Amino acid sequence: MTSTARPLLNRRLAEFGTTIFAEMSALAVATGSINLGQGFPDTDGPEEVREAAVRALRDGRGNQYPPGPGVPELRTAIAAHQERRYGLSYDPDTEVLVTAGATEAVAAALLALLEPGDEVVALEPYYDSYAASIALAGGRRVPVTLRPHEGSFRLDLDELRAAVTDRTRLLLVNTPHNPTGTVLTRAELAAIADLAVERDLLVVTDEVYEHLVFDDAEHLPLATFPGMRERTVTIGSAGKTYSFTGWKVGWVTAAPALVSAVRAAKQFLTYVSSGPFQYAVAEALALPDSYYDAFRRSMRERRDILSAGLTAAGFEVFRPAGTYFVTTDIRPLGEKDGFAFCRALPERAGVVAIPNAVFYDDREAGAPFVRFAFCKREDVLREAAERLRAM
Ligand SMILES: *Cc1c(COP(=O)(O)O)cnc(C)c1O
Repeated sequence: MTSTARPLLNRRLAEFGTTIFAEMSALAVATGSINLGQGFPDTDGPEEVREAAVRALRDGRGNQYPPGPGVPELRTAIAAHQERRYGLSYDPDTEVLVTAGATEAVAAALLALLEPGDEVVALEPYYDSYAASIALAGGRRVPVTLRPHEGSFRLDLDELRAAVTDRTRLLLVNTPHNPTGTVLTRAELAAIADLAVERDLLVVTDEVYEHLVFDDAEHLPLATFPGMRERTVTIGSAGKTYSFTGWKVGWVTAAPALVSAVRAAKQFLTYVSSGPFQYAVAEALALPDSYYDAFRRSMRERRDILSAGLTAAGFEVFRPAGTYFVTTDIRPLGEKDGFAFCRALPERAGVVAIPNAVFYDDREAGAPFVRFAFCKREDVLREAAERLRAM
């Protein structure tokens, strides 16, 4: 211990504590509950992709430090994916950067692009690493709250406009949106793009659920909107799309000056990571459309199983248009405090969920909402639904 009374953890991080996922996962183990808290699949991704990783490892590809920007095979595959899917053309050498998951991409982008005191306008509820990464970068977060409207959480464009000040440096966007399952519409994205251009803002957009959109929802990258390509840092990840969240292979696509800036921060965080997995993800990115169609179909079925179970159990369900999470309102159950509800749920029903309030600065606004993950086997979801109905 130091001799001073000064706290060990610095002021930037002190407010964050331990993530709720640690507490809830421990509770799941202690009570033998079905864990629908943390968002990771309980089945691994395609066998051929796993084999590609084994092959790379055996062949000695990626076992030593790969190149700082990522292995050329992967950068080329990422660029080809953006071109094929969205007509976005990026130079694999100057406009693509491989990162240790999307988490590092977000952190490196914010560390690179913010000066202390810069304001970051972000959609609330936030993915849990955003607030901490903004804080580490010395930025100030300015939330714009998505609010329930006719069965889904929507962005109020007037509130978004009002949140931008002369100190705003960037907009931090996430679509499809975790935890609400909202997929921003073309009109909403066009309004965000107009605002960014008008106020000359940078945009960091987390699109890790780009392939998980359901029904008639469509994922549109912000970088495809007029005036956006040169000001947008687009973030993707293999974790969610290919069900290999432990590999931590993510990426950034952006104009050369933005990629250079993000790389300047990234080189001092991890420098490089996931060597052999980078080769495997390069192969995954080239999977045929049939893979993505089947993946989407299977996740949509799981969404429907869990949503039906939650509705039958008395929750109000916000039917997600994307991601693998469903947000519910617990007020129809006579409850109003998501924290207390989630702490009691393992004992009451043998199921673990996450209180959305942890993703809000405005805890009151998030209090009645609870998130369940449906990236689990169908029999597990059916059992969870049955337990909740019996509660
Ligand atoms: C899971 C998730 C991430 C983290 O992705 P990694 O590639 O595992 O770092 C980032 N953003 C959102 C919205 C997520 O849900």
